Amino acid sequence: MAPGNDEDDTNEQIAIGDYSQEAVGLKVHLLSDVSLIPHKGIMYCLDTKRIAGMVQPTNSDPRLAPPGKHLLISHQVIQSNDVEEERELALADLRMMFGETFEKHCRVLTMSTYRGEWPVNRIAQGADVTPETSVQGLYMVGDAVKPSGYLMVEGVAQSVNLFLDLLDSSDDENVARHAGPVSRHPRNVTPPPSRFNAIRWLWEAPGNSQ
Ligand SMILES: Cc1cc2nc3c(=O)[nH]c(=O)nc-3n(C[C@H](O)[C@H](O)[C@H](O)COP(=O)(O)OP(=O)(O)OC[C@H]3O[C@@H](n4cnc5c(N)ncnc54)[C@H](O)[C@@H]3O)c2cc1C
Repeated sequence: MAPGNDEDDTNEQIAIGDYSQEAVGLKVHLLSDVSLIPHKGIMYCLDTKRIAGMVQPTNSDPRLAPPGKHLLISHQVIQSNDVEEERELALADLRMMFGETFEKHCRVLTMSTYRGEWPVNRIAQGADVTPETSVQGLYMVGDAVKPSGYLMVEGVAQSVNLFLDLLDSSDDENVARHAGPVSRHPRNVTPPPSRFNAIRWLWEAPGNSQ
């Protein structure tokens, strides 16, 4: 589990002291009169202070906004315990990216933070724990237990495969102990996609492929 609700004094200390391990985030939902992103993928934002990426889901389903308008969602990591400052930095990034268009055509619908008992992920990316626990027969699955190379819900699915691999290997050991060598089960965890895919996707992104 992620550190608890930081409204509580005890947990406040955990939240402040353990930010490196907590997967904390902030999202802004915008309604825009004009389209700001021309494609259905994530627009990665490279020169910003906080916002890492944005999507315009109305490109996939226009029903998510009133006719002619667009819904945009940004995402960012929270880098301090000062949520007000994090919100201001998000707005500053939006002004920097879209200039006057942001002021003239966009309305902020919500700004939501994900931390404490409601984090983005159950542990920071790369800090995953193993499925085994100190209680015999109790195993964990979820996005804090994912194998290397996976993110988010794909990682959740692979954490279940990781658990199945553990179960298979303990079955194999039991059989081998009583009846001699056994044929090994195929692994359930799928190898993660090649890192070169990221380069290929960038190359094939709208505007690059022509
Ligand atoms: C705003 C947001 C957007 C996201 N967008 C995406 C996305 O686009 N794509 C993607 O792949 N992933 C996305 N994610 C991440 C994705 O939601 C998580 O990776 C996934 O939900 C993790 O699954 P989990 O089962 O490990 O944990 P959770 O889904 O958090 O499930 C844990 C469950 O345990 C319950 N629980 C907690 N404490 C207790 C307790 N003491 N007793 C009993 N029950 C308890 C909780 O209520 C919860 O239901 C997003 C997350 C957020 C917050």
